[in-house]
Amino acid sequence: MSFAEMGLNASLLKAIEHEGYTTPTPIQQQSIGHVLAGKDLLGIAQTGTGKTAAFALPILDRLGAAVGKRERGRKARVLVLSPTRELATQIAASFSAYGRHTGLRQTVIYGGVSQHPQARAVRDGVDIVVATPGRLMDLMNQGLVKLDGIEILVIDEADRMFDMGFIRDIRKIVSQLSTQRQTLLFSATMPADIRELANSVLKDPVRVQVAAKNAAADTVEQAVYFVEKRNKPTLLKHVITEHGMSRVIVFTRTKHGADKVARSLAKAGIRAEAIHGNKSQNARQRSLANFKSQKPPVLVATDVAARGLDIDEVSHVVNYDLPDVAETYVHRIGRTGRAGAAGKAVSFCDRDERACLRDIEKLLGKKTAILEDHPEYPKSTGSADAGEAERPERGARGKRHVRKPHAEGPADGRHRSRRRKFSKSSGEVVASGSVSREAVTAKVPAPHAAAKSAVARPKTGKKPAKKPNSYTTMW
Ligand code: AMP
Repeated sequence: MSFAEMGLNASLLKAIEHEGYTTPTPIQQQSIGHVLAGKDLLGIAQTGTGKTAAFALPILDRLGAAVGKRERGRKARVLVLSPTRELATQIAASFSAYGRHTGLRQTVIYGGVSQHPQARAVRDGVDIVVATPGRLMDLMNQGLVKLDGIEILVIDEADRMFDMGFIRDIRKIVSQLSTQRQTLLFSATMPADIRELANSVLKDPVRVQVAAKNAAADTVEQAVYFVEKRNKPTLLKHVITEHGMSRVIVFTRTKHGADKVARSLAKAGIRAEAIHGNKSQNARQRSLANFKSQKPPVLVATDVAARGLDIDEVSHVVNYDLPDVAETYVHRIGRTGRAGAAGKAVSFCDRDERACLRDIEKLLGKKTAILEDHPEYPKSTGSADAGEAERPERGARGKRHVRKPHAEGPADGRHRSRRRKFSKSSGEVVASGSVSREAVTAKVPAPHAAAKSAVARPKTGKKPAKKPNSYTTMW
């Protein structure tokens, strides 16, 4: 069904055309009609599926149809709750883009910046408020924002709100809204807590679900390097320069780690910016704008900072550290390969991260191809791999692994079987495993003997000195 057939009004169809959308995404196909009909909706979908338009378009349609004279000081009629400032800003930008011909106004409310312009915007009159729960509660408690005109409530990324400790705020906010409202709740996952929240805020909802949580795994080419922790900086520089990574997000587990990686790249002459919760709002927005520019720096991000970012055309995701929780990996690689585009994700797995990799492969139900084109690493000083005790950023989900003792080299024989194989006759490098042969085959000179010996890396932990490989891969 096309957008027009769904019954969206002409001004929205014009905006959709302006955005270049030709076909509704599955979540849009399933949701728009119900929201237009005024139904409550429970949407199980994650960022990247087009869910913002799935709720913003029909909401704008409903508002547009009902609005007469839009006087100054009018009451907000739509409230969208979002877990992060970045996502709130993106949602407001989407309302602005889709509503460009409607005359409707929106504002965004979030913490970490002065509250006065936000309070003023609401006082001056807006139709749509997009807010993070904490700052909204602040403004409500001061009597600066009143929500007695809200007709439609959207709770976006509910599971993440829960992880970030916002659920009490949400319940308080909801308790102040009219019970006559329409409510839409979106969540990537549906644990018991979220089901309970949904039951208490939704009335007879339509349930729509798209793309199982590991769907990104099908569209994103994934591969892993087994590497010692101390060699990760060298490997990162290598993959960024040798694999044609044009717009890359590098994920680290900690804020400290993100800063360190960004500094190390800068030292090597690679422009990089770190984005995490300790950065000011302005710095984060600036990094984001730079990243969207024609010459993007490498963006080094923590999970909490990056999740929900709406960035198109990310060519590569690098998991510099593997996440403790397998679902987080899926969210990370979902930054690339969005809206059907091909994406690539490469992970660095050190000896302490093997259990994380196993969990990820179990969740995805497939093995990860192993890359072997290691650069030459600096000689070991024996100290760098000691491993700093770093805390994950606040708000990162789930429990940490209890790291198990490990052996050097791949965890088991199956890893070996997924390693790159060298065809003596053709001199081609062919990876086996989940990445398609066409995608990973590169015509190259027959591999250097030292490179061959690296494939069968000894289990002693000592790597033979070897020359950098000259071949390139699809990365
Ligand atoms: P979201 O899941 O809302 O974060 O959207 C992910 C991306 O998909 C955004 O960059 C949207 O601009 C884009 N998008 C949303 N709907 C469509 C559509 N029907 N066709 C193409 N792109 C879309």
